Amino acid sequence: MVSTPARPPVGDHQLSEAHRCTLGPIATPDRLLLGPGPSNAHPTVLQALSRTPIGHLDPLYVELMGEVQELLRYAWQTDNRLTIPMSGTGSAAMEATLANTVEPGDKVLVAVKGYFGLRLADMAGRYRAEVATIERPWGEAFTLEEIEAALQHHRPAILAMVHAETSTGVCQPMEGIGELCRQYDCLLLLDTVTSLGAIPVFLDDWKVDLAYSCSQKGLSCPPGLGPFTMGPRAEAKLAARRDKVPNWYLDVSLLNQYWGSNRVYHHTAPVNMNFGMREALRLLAEEGLENAWARHRANAERLWIGLERLGLEPHVPEELRLPTLTTVRIPEGVDGKAFSLHLLNTHGIEVGGGLGVLAGKVWRIGLMGFNSRAENVDRLLDLFEAELPAFRSAAA
Ligand code: PLP
Repeated sequence: MVSTPARPPVGDHQLSEAHRCTLGPIATPDRLLLGPGPSNAHPTVLQALSRTPIGHLDPLYVELMGEVQELLRYAWQTDNRLTIPMSGTGSAAMEATLANTVEPGDKVLVAVKGYFGLRLADMAGRYRAEVATIERPWGEAFTLEEIEAALQHHRPAILAMVHAETSTGVCQPMEGIGELCRQYDCLLLLDTVTSLGAIPVFLDDWKVDLAYSCSQKGLSCPPGLGPFTMGPRAEAKLAARRDKVPNWYLDVSLLNQYWGSNRVYHHTAPVNMNFGMREALRLLAEEGLENAWARHRANAERLWIGLERLGLEPHVPEELRLPTLTTVRIPEGVDGKAFSLHLLNTHGIEVGGGLGVLAGKVWRIGLMGFNSRAENVDRLLDLFEAELPAFRSAAA
């Protein structure tokens, strides 16, 4: 055994070589991310991310903050003053919506139809809400009648729901829900993580009071920012709180002193992530929301037609199917996990597996942001056609 010579002490300390690894520079492969997210970032977003950082109070950065806020309002179709990219991922922005508005004992009704509805219910409970849930099977959506009956029964302060359920591939129809929430005097909180920038979202027309999203899906940016927005009714609830928001980092009244007109330091903003976000939102505005939505729809339909041709069955009926995320049933006798590992290891393509009750039952194919392109659809369909048969067991 080779013994390591004793190193000279540094002052009173003996420097330890434990944990010191010798590594080469990072060399990740260029994957094609066709799973539930993250999706590939647009090349000019990656360029923006690699620019030299500037100070988070530099007048140029302060100008950029305003640009990001304004473009987020466009993407969400809202005039909300309090529209901020939270430092953190979608879950941080999700938490911000609840942390700022829930007071202990408030009733929060969560419409659960998949994994992310369960997360909302868990988070609301942590802010000491009295949580009630209504549930639909994973692959279905709520009707307006079901929502109204639950509002009437529970009389919540907040109704929280997921627009685009990434765990199931269901798009919740939103028409009429906001009106019902006004009628029952409750706030409407909406998860738009897998919808923003990719499928129609009309926050103000839908009368949504609180919403959040992420950077890594329809916006073609890497993960790291969680867009957050709050309308006047939610602001009024925040202003009427008896106690401080029980989460310092996500307290919008503090954050707004930085993102609003005062520009007072709160935390050191991840400036390069916001460079990337500005570029992602600039690209979206350049394309135009209606064109981006039409592109996502057309490529999803191309995928659905191709899957049908191959005899593969989507899990969700077409009228509720999300253009950004398609759940495909794994055929009887096929080792779904082995096939997705094969796609990753042999072709560098990521496709997701099922979550929760759909684990082992579906693949999740994402076509989001920069990745929603016909050539990606065709490449994946070709691989399903040529290489899936080898993953069917002999008995099937
Ligand atoms: N909500 C939905 C619908 C999601 O799909 C996700 C993540 O995929 C989240 C919330 C959480 O976002 P993040 O993983 O960025 O924290």
